[in-house]
Amino acid sequence: MTLPDPSPVLRFAPSPNGYLHIGHAYSALVNQRLARQLGGRLLLRIEDIDTGRCRPEFEAAILEDLAWLGITWEQPVRRQSERFSAYSRALERLREEGLAYPCFCTRGDLARDVADRPDWPRDPDGVPLYTGACKHMSASERGRRLASGQSAAVRLDMGEALARVDGPLGWREYGEGAIARDVSAEPSLWGDTIIGRRDVPASYHIAVVVDDADQGVTDVARGMDLFNATSLHRLLQEMLDLPAPVYRHHELLRDEAGAKLSKSARAKSIRAFREEGIGAEALRRQLGFA
Ligand code: GLU
Repeated sequence: MTLPDPSPVLRFAPSPNGYLHIGHAYSALVNQRLARQLGGRLLLRIEDIDTGRCRPEFEAAILEDLAWLGITWEQPVRRQSERFSAYSRALERLREEGLAYPCFCTRGDLARDVADRPDWPRDPDGVPLYTGACKHMSASERGRRLASGQSAAVRLDMGEALARVDGPLGWREYGEGAIARDVSAEPSLWGDTIIGRRDVPASYHIAVVVDDADQGVTDVARGMDLFNATSLHRLLQEMLDLPAPVYRHHELLRDEAGAKLSKSARAKSIRAFREEGIGAEALRRQLGFA
């Protein structure tokens, strides 16, 4: 007897560092529509590891704006700021297995390292790849600095991680409808990227893979701006023995000047539409959700 596939689990995962704009509304609606089409569940995850920029009032506004838009999600809402111990454990495991190392470099050190190297490669977010000073530090020097309380970020040892991948690494990417293609992951684009920040024992990348697995997320639908990050997420999932969801990277809405809404200062908030008296139904229709 074969057991039926467990029902699909989707999530919408905003960061409460501002009001939701219509690009977020679009992404939430894509997730809600997919959850309905697939007969799945929709979770809401508040990605608030950046304790300096995230605010409770923005979280409250997110819940209110999504409810106004007609999105419904399962309780309880997960808050990543309550999950640092799980992210620490993942980072610790990668360090113990020789896949990550502490990095003491400051932003200034990194900027100086590449200042006279205009052609130095950058990661998909535009950050120069790590030049490697702390990677080659002796164990005794590392130990001395940590013991003296010097704060450190945690970097992934990309070369070591790639060497441990068994077979091809990639993911299933769905487009419109049910058409899927296999994408080859290119995690080396990210170099020895930061997976644990200096201020908090987590990073977006580690938190997202740990939580997607912990919450049983089977289908990740998010904006195209995170397409390249998926290569890194797949590598981290492999290193941590976590299952791989399937992905749908949807198009990004653009403002009148053609800039991505995610990056645009002019992106109009859902609140602003509400305050102008535009109804949720009209906004949904405008975004293509009749
Ligand atoms: N928290 C991320 C954002 O607001 C989304 C992360 C994801 O969907 O994987 O852009």
